[in-house]
Amino acid sequence: MRSAYVIAVCGMLLGVHVSTAADIKKSDVYRRIKLKIDAVRAIDTHDHLRAFNKMPDRVDTPDGRGMNLYSIWAHSYLTRTTKITPWPQDRSFATWWKSAKHDFRDARATSFYRYLLPAFRDLYGVDFDSINDDDAKRLNQRIFANYQNDRWLLDVIIKRANIELMFIDPYWNRLQFARDYQFAVPVFNVTTILSASHPGRTPSSRDSPYVFAERRNLPTGSFSEFLEVIEVLFQEARAADCICLKSTQAYLRTLDYQVVDVKDAEAVYGRSPEEVTEAEQKQFEDFMFWHLCRLSAKYELPFQIHTGDARVQGSNPMLLVDVIEANPDTKFILFHGGYPWVGETGAIAMKHKNVWIDSCWLPTLSYTMAKRAYQEWLDAVPADRIMWGADTVDAEGIYGATELTRQCIAEALSEKVEKGEITEDYAYQIGRQIMRENALKLFPRLNRMLWR
Ligand SMILES: [Zn+2]
Repeated sequence: MRSAYVIAVCGMLLGVHVSTAADIKKSDVYRRIKLKIDAVRAIDTHDHLRAFNKMPDRVDTPDGRGMNLYSIWAHSYLTRTTKITPWPQDRSFATWWKSAKHDFRDARATSFYRYLLPAFRDLYGVDFDSINDDDAKRLNQRIFANYQNDRWLLDVIIKRANIELMFIDPYWNRLQFARDYQFAVPVFNVTTILSASHPGRTPSSRDSPYVFAERRNLPTGSFSEFLEVIEVLFQEARAADCICLKSTQAYLRTLDYQVVDVKDAEAVYGRSPEEVTEAEQKQFEDFMFWHLCRLSAKYELPFQIHTGDARVQGSNPMLLVDVIEANPDTKFILFHGGYPWVGETGAIAMKHKNVWIDSCWLPTLSYTMAKRAYQEWLDAVPADRIMWGADTVDAEGIYGATELTRQCIAEALSEKVEKGEITEDYAYQIGRQIMRENALKLFPRLNRMLWR
């Protein structure tokens, strides 16, 4: 603190520009690194973008049904901490904004709010922090007009966010492997398979391995037949160009997966949920998780696992270490940097060569922790083990999260360059690796999906 002050004072006395720790983003080194990172045609390893006509965020307005400013905020991560005024009965923007403009009062410092600001700034020329009523009205109209067809969405993702490929985790329809966009890479979301001890356990027919089996005329009477059905699903996922597995069980239960004998899982299989204790169901799921780790290796589908913030209790990635160690041929990808356990995530990746870190969503959760995490991970693990993803649902969210991530990585790297920890050229290399090359290396099949 004291030495920074002395340097700043000396700089003022000498009348020269002194780069202090105040804001590295104003430095030339940051500007150069950021430009290089912006130029990388990104591979976004995690998003939830639906087919254009199935985007669920539209509301009824006097001009018809469509997306607007309400849609963007109501489907943003801000709703996790802050209540957004519901769309009013009279369907009028003026009614909504009169109340909604106060919704942001306590949120303006949060990353859940700030990740959308680059979208308003760069795509619409609007500073949302100081927006007035007239500008808000115009912004709303422009968003509505932009979503009359899919051109805006494609333009923002491909040209403005500069994304070449995007992994799409279809949690609304898990067992279909469609590619709705040229840039879309399908992901096989196995969350509902893990808990499917009985047809009554699967929330919807779209997510049910039993409905899948019926369609294929495959029996599910015994546990071994059920496991056969899961193999067929894996074969179809591979054939449909699925690139990896994804589990979001951290939202539902602990990540503590014990070794369970097949007989104990079989004893739970087929029994109705009312007859099964929580402990028995956990045994079934634990067995299935280990089983899917084996299939992940067999079918060369790396396993993306949601770790960190979800339920928080039971979502520490340290709980996965025994499974990781016992399955050296399975490639584990720890999602969200394990937030808030970013240091633990780095330690796991340092110790285990079959672990990658995906920083998707992390800058949106906490920009400050994300910057620290990139720096700590680069201290601890090789530069080819870190990836990123926007993890959002519409053009504005994807642009905002992507821009925030590029900024965060550039800021983390510039500080390392300024401190003499890495060269500037090496910072450019790391930027390319995190934004693109690491994904191509971990998922070699992506190379034949490149299209730009
Ligand atoms: Zn996600």
